[in-house]
Amino acid sequence: MKICVLPGDGIGPEIMAEAVRVLQALELRCELSEALLGGCAVDATGDPYPQETQRLAQQADAVLLGAVGGPQWDGLPRGQRPERGLLAIRQDLGLFANLRPAILYPELANASTLKSEVVAGLDILIVRELTGDIYFGQPRGIETRDIDGRQERFAFNTMHYSESEIRRILRVAFEAAGRRNGKLCSVDKMNVLETTQLWRDVANETAADYPDVELSHMLVDNAAMQLVRNPRQFDVIVTGNMFGDILSDEAAMLTGSIGMLPSASLDANGKGLYEPCHGSAPDIAGRGLANPLATILSAAMMLRYTFALEDAALRIENAVKKVLAQGCRTADIHEPGMQELTTRAMGDAVLAAL
Ligand code: NAD
Repeated sequence: MKICVLPGDGIGPEIMAEAVRVLQALELRCELSEALLGGCAVDATGDPYPQETQRLAQQADAVLLGAVGGPQWDGLPRGQRPERGLLAIRQDLGLFANLRPAILYPELANASTLKSEVVAGLDILIVRELTGDIYFGQPRGIETRDIDGRQERFAFNTMHYSESEIRRILRVAFEAAGRRNGKLCSVDKMNVLETTQLWRDVANETAADYPDVELSHMLVDNAAMQLVRNPRQFDVIVTGNMFGDILSDEAAMLTGSIGMLPSASLDANGKGLYEPCHGSAPDIAGRGLANPLATILSAAMMLRYTFALEDAALRIENAVKKVLAQGCRTADIHEPGMQELTTRAMGDAVLAAL
């Protein structure tokens, strides 16, 4: 099992150190290679996704990423920004399926801004298409045009999806739903957009191959409302790149604890990039305050989705549940009466639970 480890910037190295310790404790015979991505790579090479990183990421079976970015790189030209490294590696590895669980552990129910009776025990998975849609569609641009005899700035983007792009993300979602509670909700805007009319048609066609999964459809505006009204009605949600971007952040915030949420981005062969949903948190970097659980849980997703090691993934997830039940908390999820731990001490607690 070849794993390329990219700690990145800000809190990235701190949280990654704990995830690596957890992986090592499982004694899985994996080969880890570390490389630079993001701001640290810009500083060392001038390129946010250097060739050496590209080589290691391509050779690996999976990539485990911390986070990238920080204010010190904000002034750089677009092509050299740390976030460009993130887009480049996703594109380079052909990662088209983004899986984001939103789980609210019962012990953290108070962290949500919603009433705990609405969200406690929430466990949903959002599957977002990652390489198509309006974010990548051509033509695009900002230019000056003649509008009703006046010269004005004019901006445009193009939304498009091919049938095969839609079908492959739907298959990932149907399979994920099949491994969970067998309910898949496909989110679109078919009343307005042809692109998503095709999305709905393909979803209905694909459903025939997955008789054990119950498919439903929802318009995106309603889905945004239902996520805050009654989020536990969902099991797996599948949607396009732009709607998925927005809904997955909304779902993440339902849990109130961004430091707890892992994610996976997969290619067509199960190779994946695994990373926490949060960013590099420059405001707390280097102070031992960061919550490493999202990165540790990302490592668990890697064992499940790329290496098919369900038992090892569950061991990590159960260890995390156990430390939460024991009252271990980093500062971001701390409540009165609980034990406040540093990043390292939280890693120690997970190792002890393992
Ligand atoms: P952020 O997620 O880094 O931080 C938002 C807030 O959440 C901050 O208060 C931070 O301290 C807190 N937080 C985040 N992760 C935490 C953790 N593990 N433990 C405890 N608290 C945590 O988002 P931001 O502040 O908008 O962005 C900071 C930088 O990260 C920017 O440069 C941005 O571009 C970058 N970013 C990177 C990624 C990524 O690498 N995938 C994603 C989002 C943002």
